[in-house]
Amino acid sequence: MNNGWKRRCDSCERDVEARYEILGQRICNACYSRLRRNAATCPGCGVTKVLAFRSDSGQVVCATCAGVPARFGCTRCSSEEFLAGSHCGRCRLEERLNEVLTDDQGRIHPQLAPLRAHLLSTRDPRSAERWLRREPTGATLRAMAGGLKPVRHETLDELPPSTRLRYFRRTLIAAGCLPEIDVRLHDLALRTESFIQTLPADHAVIVARYFSWETLRKLRRRPLDRPVSVGVVNTRTTEVRKIAAFLAWLDENDVELETLQQVALDRYLAHRDPHRALARFLRWAVHHRVMPRVRLPPTPRVERGPATNADALWDHVDVLLHDETTPLPSRIIGLFLLVFAQPISDSARLRRDAVQGYGEELTVRFGTTPVKMPPPIASLLQQHLAEAGNRRPYVGQPSAWLFPGTMPQQHVTEDAVRGHLAKHGFHARAAKRARLHQLTQVLPASIVADITGYAVQTAVRHAAKSGAAWGAYPELRESETSELDGHK
Ligand SMILES: [Zn+2]
Ligand SMILES: [Zn+2]
Ligand SMILES: [Zn+2]
Repeated sequence: MNNGWKRRCDSCERDVEARYEILGQRICNACYSRLRRNAATCPGCGVTKVLAFRSDSGQVVCATCAGVPARFGCTRCSSEEFLAGSHCGRCRLEERLNEVLTDDQGRIHPQLAPLRAHLLSTRDPRSAERWLRREPTGATLRAMAGGLKPVRHETLDELPPSTRLRYFRRTLIAAGCLPEIDVRLHDLALRTESFIQTLPADHAVIVARYFSWETLRKLRRRPLDRPVSVGVVNTRTTEVRKIAAFLAWLDENDVELETLQQVALDRYLAHRDPHRALARFLRWAVHHRVMPRVRLPPTPRVERGPATNADALWDHVDVLLHDETTPLPSRIIGLFLLVFAQPISDSARLRRDAVQGYGEELTVRFGTTPVKMPPPIASLLQQHLAEAGNRRPYVGQPSAWLFPGTMPQQHVTEDAVRGHLAKHGFHARAAKRARLHQLTQVLPASIVADITGYAVQTAVRHAAKSGAAWGAYPELRESETSELDGHK
């Protein structure tokens, strides 16, 4: 009975109602909104418009150039750029900003005004608009704007730590709404404080005293342009946990720290390997007479100096994971570069079938071995695949490329990706070399070659240069995974 109205969409070729007539084709709802969302430079007037009409010469152009009434424009400003619903991206963003950043009198909070300007300057206003809808971002900004919460770092401190929160904080700092702080050191302090709260009261007192005097006070002396490194944060996080485990062991064995005997300490250290992690604490405890004078294991060398290349690398990873103002394909290609040492040109040319599996099991094949993606990258990839599905070319077959370009059947160009990543200020070739260096430090060259697709010789050369110590592989995986998970 449905043959009377049910037709086939000429664009996606699904058997769905095709109500719209565009360029001589009958198309469905989904294809119609896809067309509206993807304005492009009109060959007639050079303005970004929805191209769905034919000029006298048969070229596909905008409504104005075809001499017909415009039917797609924003109902407020008539722009056809970044359309979403009845409005353009910029109008929607302005509307959202008015709603999120103003009090009940409609006045914008003076301290949040710079954020408004900052977000209005993003390339695709739709991404800033999406970001404002994500929690805890939206709710927190509303509370600040309404005067319920102060525009201060402390307001963010009350929220559960996550990489999204870290990005939120960095955005407020970048916009000039919050004073510059060492975000990573700040996170270390918050996370350690909440860990200390889970300890028995008598242990918490000792650990808190050690952490605030011996660790935080010293790290806070650093200048702001020399933020703490990921390495220092990982070492200090591990240290606090090992101290807590040591105190718990003393309890279980009915030993008091205040009267600790050499033999008990030696017994503890002999059966575990945390003595390197414990050395600093033990020296401090002896010095401050928290425990008696005993013979101590040698103190490991303390990491000093500015954040290393590795840290800068992980900072960029942090930003790319969350920066919705950069197009998603370029973010993923940037992450492939930073995490898997993949040249931009190679990633741009990956085929769709290089990605297999789903969720936790999502893999990408750069070389011969499929590499399991860390969860945050896997979820970005899935988002990308879903969006790419929505953006299939208006005419023709879906692309075989993982990152389709603007031209039909072409992959994204290296130049476009470089352009998008340029504002992040990392040098692609240097980043790739640094990362390859790091990987060869912790993995045998043959495995690096296998995973990254580099020739074994290249990997061996880097391994030789970096004085490879492959034994650290599990350790590195642990610390790198926690970095990617935002220390959750
Ligand atoms: Zn369709
Ligand atoms: Zn035109
Ligand atoms: Zn508009």
